[in-house]
Amino acid sequence: MAPIERQTEVWRTKPSPLTGLISIFLLGFSVTAAQSKLETQRIVPGTNSGMMTKLNEPHVSDPPASFYEALRKALKKRKTNIDNICPQSDGVARRILEEYGAIFIATRKVKTPPVCVFTSEAQVTKFQDEADYVTEFVSYADIELQPEAMKALLKAREEAQKEGLDVTPRDGAEAARRSFEDSMQLWDTRFLPALDYWLAQGRLTQEQVTRLKSLPLRHQVAEVLELEKTGIYFSKDLSKSILYSIAAPGASQHIAMLAFDVSEFDNPRVREILAKHGWFQTVLSDLPHFTFLGLKEKDLPKNGLKSVEADGQTFWIPNIPTAAAQSE
Ligand SMILES: [Zn+2]
Repeated sequence: MAPIERQTEVWRTKPSPLTGLISIFLLGFSVTAAQSKLETQRIVPGTNSGMMTKLNEPHVSDPPASFYEALRKALKKRKTNIDNICPQSDGVARRILEEYGAIFIATRKVKTPPVCVFTSEAQVTKFQDEADYVTEFVSYADIELQPEAMKALLKAREEAQKEGLDVTPRDGAEAARRSFEDSMQLWDTRFLPALDYWLAQGRLTQEQVTRLKSLPLRHQVAEVLELEKTGIYFSKDLSKSILYSIAAPGASQHIAMLAFDVSEFDNPRVREILAKHGWFQTVLSDLPHFTFLGLKEKDLPKNGLKSVEADGQTFWIPNIPTAAAQSE
């Protein structure tokens, strides 16, 4: 299937951030040295032309609750805990949770993943079967989502259509449910062209390229993130981390069937309608990407999410107090 190309990529404000994401796949791995240097970094979504935009922190009246506190409560209700889904001893896993974790405070009417990073197709298939999903033909493609998420999406679409607007999938069926394999293919759409580029630039040797290609995925991810520390970036435009260009493999909210990429994302009224039906932008780096939380917008702060404005759009992301965030 055709890999998804996101138009929107993200600019970092400083060099170094996602070093922590170093892997995604390394749950169970020890990357302590790199992790200890991790600092949470604010990222700034740019326009398609890569313009930098200024981040303005919230305009919500009440200060948002701590994400971790809200998460603990939410997981308790689901009879699990943070260490089960994302071991706190693992700085990498923790960082992933802080990037993509809004999904875990979603309404209990949906099933949230048992882990913050899936590591095999079998694990994804088991989750997707248990969570259950429904298929609807939306505009021009079959869309698969968890039942509650689908219900809300169709309502939002109906409301949009009454106003002469629409809510349609971006890039076909992959706008919604994805498999583990899909997330790996997406990785390759960045990884392989970047290897060619850096080889041509003389920054990588043929031996390095051959070796990188032959590595098991989890090691490949780790090494790519290491190379990025030296300015050898793997995003689509080669100017930033690959992780701002695509979701970390295995960590995509699409795997949870609670995400939908919307073609009409740049229409403020469409976003408003989606929000009214529980669909919010929760991944700062990804403009067309909406997450089904099934909550009212006014209740998001008390659920540990804070609003951040970028490109005139409002993102609801985990409220993690950090030195970097506080200094902004
Ligand atoms: Zn998406």
